[in-house]
This record gives sequence, structure tokens and C-alpha cells, in this order.
Amino acid sequence: MSPAAPAIIVHGGAGPVRDGSLERRLEGCDAAARAGWRLLERGASALDVVEAAVAALEDNPLFNAGTGSTLNSRGEIEMDAAIMEGVSLRAGAVAAVQRIKNPVKLARRVLEDGRHVLLAGAGALEFARAAGIPQCPPEELVVESEQRRWRDKHGTVGAVALDRGGAVAAATSTGGIFDKLPGRVGDSSLPGCGVYADEDGGVSCTGHGESIIRVVLAKSALDFVRAGCDPEEAARRAVELLASRTGGTGGVIILDRRGRIGYARNTPHMPVCYSTGAGGFKVDF
Ligand code: ASP
Repeated sequence: MSPAAPAIIVHGGAGPVRDGSLERRLEGCDAAARAGWRLLERGASALDVVEAAVAALEDNPLFNAGTGSTLNSRGEIEMDAAIMEGVSLRAGAVAAVQRIKNPVKLARRVLEDGRHVLLAGAGALEFARAAGIPQCPPEELVVESEQRRWRDKHGTVGAVALDRGGAVAAATSTGGIFDKLPGRVGDSSLPGCGVYADEDGGVSCTGHGESIIRVVLAKSALDFVRAGCDPEEAARRAVELLASRTGGTGGVIILDRRGRIGYARNTPHMPVCYSTGAGGFKVDF
């Protein structure tokens, strides 16, 4: 692979922001993109970069991932996360996990372990224990605002990065959707659906998981790039596909192997922050 100019894009979820926190969400995306960028500059791998950027967003209680995740119909938190590297197609994911502060880090361990792609529930926790990933009391991940509102929580997080070696990686992490049944697994932990990376680029999705799964949205978005669309056009087409085939709402971010960025949504907002080096960091919603 030839040396590449690094690039990164992160998102903070598509969906209504009714609590006036849009500005702070943009700041959160900006901070995560900058954290990832610092690593890229030091020559870190795209995998390390998306893991760090998503972990920063998981630690920010404004977002529906890690701390601040939405509650299911039992009032509990169950989280999904996945991470994938495009050159090797290595992927790791966890679904319906509780007690894990940073599900994306656990997903990374699944990837590195290499035996499986996706671990769920109690088995994922057992794996975490064996891997030395600490577990926290479930209430530590519940934030007050989430308990108060307990609905309409959006703000799944995701990141895609291109490293200096020309590799692309993508990661997505979420608390899922409000009032979901215990055991429900959304798109975020499913490679091809809420996250995907291959030799042409990487994608992270957000929105109604059941709809996203039906059109295998992340892979579909990258197929548009492969067919010759630039990433902006590919993102638009992917969201159109989501809407036309399922009536679902959501958004996607794309970064291709040439460092070109695209994003689109059919919801009122989707905070994003990106940088391709020249021009610093751009935020949008
Ligand atoms: N896609 C996530 C899920 O369905 C939710 C979201 O992106 O807001 O679990």
C-alpha cells in the first residue's frame, strides 16, 4: 500500500436533539476527531484511531453509547459495538452487553482474538473477564438526564479513519433504541449493516437499526463508491435506499481509500466532525 494522507470523520448519531445540546454534541464530535487526528499524525493505525475516537464519544454522557446509553424496556442498558479494518476484513463486535464502560474496546479485543466476529450478552462478558477488561456496576453508565427522559434518545456514535499506511477502519457504538426488548440487537454490531470497511473505504451508520439491517446499509453505501460515486453521492444514495426500501430514517458517514469524505442523513440533525489535514477540522450537523 502506498503512503496516504490521513483523514478522519466521526458522527454523533442521527435523530432529534430536543434538549438544546446540539452545540455541545458538536463539541464532543470535534474533541473525538481531534483525539483521533493526533494519533494519525503520530502514525497510529486506522484501527487504533477509530477505537480511540469512539471511546471518547462513549465516555461523553451526551451520546447514546457507553456512559449515557439509552434504557431498554426493563430500564436497563444493553449496548452494541463493532470495529472493522478494511484491508484484512478483520472485524470484532459485541451485542447486548451490560457493565462495559467502553464496548468498542471490547469489540477490538474480539477482533484481535480472531476466533469469532460477534459475541453477545453473557458470553461477551465472560470474554471480557478473560481479556482483563474491567466491568462496572450497571448504574455507573446511567446518566440522570437519560433516566428523566427515558425516551427519544439518539446519538449513536461512529468513526472512520484512513491511516498513513493507506488502511481504512470504521467503528460504531450504541445503546440502541429506546424501549427495545431485552436482547434486541441492532445494526451497530453487525458488519455490513451499521459498520463496514474494505479495501475501498469505511462506513459507519446511525438510525433505525431494524431498517438499516434490511438494506445492509454500510456495505450498500460502499458499493455505491465502488460503482463510481464519490462518497458524498454514495452517502446520499445510501440514505435514499434506506428511505425508499424501508421508510426508515438515519444517516451514514463514508471515508474512502483516497481520503474523500461523504455524509448524509434524512433526519433533522447528525453532528459530524472531519478532517483531511488541509483546512483543519470541520463540523456540521
Ligand atoms: N442504529 C442504532 C440502533 O438501532 C440506533 C441509532 O443509531 O440511534 O441500535
